[in-house]
Amino acid sequence: MVVARGAPDVVVVGGGVIGLCCAWRLAARGRSVTLCDPAPTAGASWVAAGMLAPVTEVQHGEEELLRLTLAAARRWPSFADELESASGGPVGWRPTGTLLVAVDADDRRWAQALHRFQRSLGLAVEWLTPRQARQLEPALAPALSGAIWAPEDHQVDNRQLLAALRRAVEQARVEVRADAVVSLQATGGAVSGVTTADGTAIGASHVVLCAGWQSGAIEGLPAGLAPPVRPVKGQILRLVPADGSSVVLERTVRAFVASSHVYLVPRATGEVVVGATMEEMGPDTTPTAGGVHELLRDALAVVPALRELVVAEVAAGLRPGSPDNAPLIGPAPGGFGVDGLVIATGHYRNGLLLAPLTADAVVAAVEGEPPVPEVLPFAAERFAAERFAAERSRGDSGSAGAVRTPGGPGAAGSEGGPGAAGSGPGGPTLAGASSRGARGSAPGASRTEPRPST
Ligand SMILES: Cc1cc2nc3c(=O)[nH]c(=O)nc-3n(C[C@H](O)[C@H](O)[C@H](O)COP(=O)(O)OP(=O)(O)OC[C@H]3O[C@@H](n4cnc5c(N)ncnc54)[C@H](O)[C@@H]3O)c2cc1C
Repeated sequence: MVVARGAPDVVVVGGGVIGLCCAWRLAARGRSVTLCDPAPTAGASWVAAGMLAPVTEVQHGEEELLRLTLAAARRWPSFADELESASGGPVGWRPTGTLLVAVDADDRRWAQALHRFQRSLGLAVEWLTPRQARQLEPALAPALSGAIWAPEDHQVDNRQLLAALRRAVEQARVEVRADAVVSLQATGGAVSGVTTADGTAIGASHVVLCAGWQSGAIEGLPAGLAPPVRPVKGQILRLVPADGSSVVLERTVRAFVASSHVYLVPRATGEVVVGATMEEMGPDTTPTAGGVHELLRDALAVVPALRELVVAEVAAGLRPGSPDNAPLIGPAPGGFGVDGLVIATGHYRNGLLLAPLTADAVVAAVEGEPPVPEVLPFAAERFAAERFAAERSRGDSGSAGAVRTPGGPGAAGSEGGPGAAGSGPGGPTLAGASSRGARGSAPGASRTEPRPST
């Protein structure tokens, strides 16, 4: 085994948007940081659309998650400013607002139900007639049945953001190692570092685990703490103007189209990001003809002028989904033998939105400061009890200190099926919209996911 020279204070495992934000913020607080990732920025964060959309994402039964996402959205303007100064370049945050449009009469009923729910929560939304919606976005199809205007749901260009974070961590002297972490080391009840795939041992008093959907697959994690995250595939398209400059849309447009759902996120350059499927397919990132067809069919129904754009990219990414589709953020509690471990994963559809707030919560955990209040319901150990029970029923000893190994109980993705999406108590939820929407998807695929999907 090789021992790395000059042990850092903190090892960050994973260089997606969450890991990079945490590394930058920790380094800005004077911590020496090493970030390990065999392919930094190449995960879900690269593929994503970049909506910062607490209002149009809200679901029945997810009011605590809404408090978290609203708190995250409030941080974005100052976070973007700070990152622009630190990185010396654009971050791509744009306060565009979001229009959620309904196409047919059924879509309108679901949109109205969502609008009533949003209003009951005191969210900033306004119901628009089709004409009012087209005044905001003239490229919308004539055949609309109504729209919700959410002026505070904005967007960030995820690729500009990642580039800015790469520059910022470099300037903050974070060491970026292109290597995977294979195991967590602990002695005397606390973490002591990690071992990487090339056999290097890196000592550290704190380890921040933010390896996206693979966060549960690190050896040495106590069984009850290995994040039960699974990959949720999302296919997405990037369309660009043929002349390189025309702008079809100014604002993000989300739409219910004959019970299906699509979103269009326009960049300042004229690019339009069209997303996204929601598929429980395991770790598969192959784009399919069916996925592309459904996205384009719905996108063109809402904005026919997109027909003239060039398909610049078809991609699929893996959202890190947890059993309740909410993130796991916070320090490992005492009793697990890994004091100094901080978990930040399971951000599912909202990782871009939640990144600045997650980083603040991680810094507070590492520095021993009071926690960010909105993250408290999302403690990393909230699935521990059920996981111990599951392990016991499989005949394992299941003590708090029991350590998992890859492929054992609790391996990443073992949660398998869809989480509790849209299963909130009664009322008109978007779950109904989805159940109307099954249209010959591939096995496991679901544009029929019971919610607007980011
Ligand atoms: C199609 C699609 C659209 C989306 N749209 C939006 C949106 O509009 N708004 C929004 O807020 N969110 C959106 N999301 C969700 C968002 O992309 C994720 O929540 C977010 O990117 C998660 O960030 P992450 O850093 O946890 O994971 P990732 O970006 O996946 O990064 C994880 C990193 O960990 C690394 N890693 C894995 N294992 C190891 C290991 N053992 N050692 C070291 N490194 C390791 C990987 O190489 C990877 O770079 C979307 C996702 C998809 C797929």
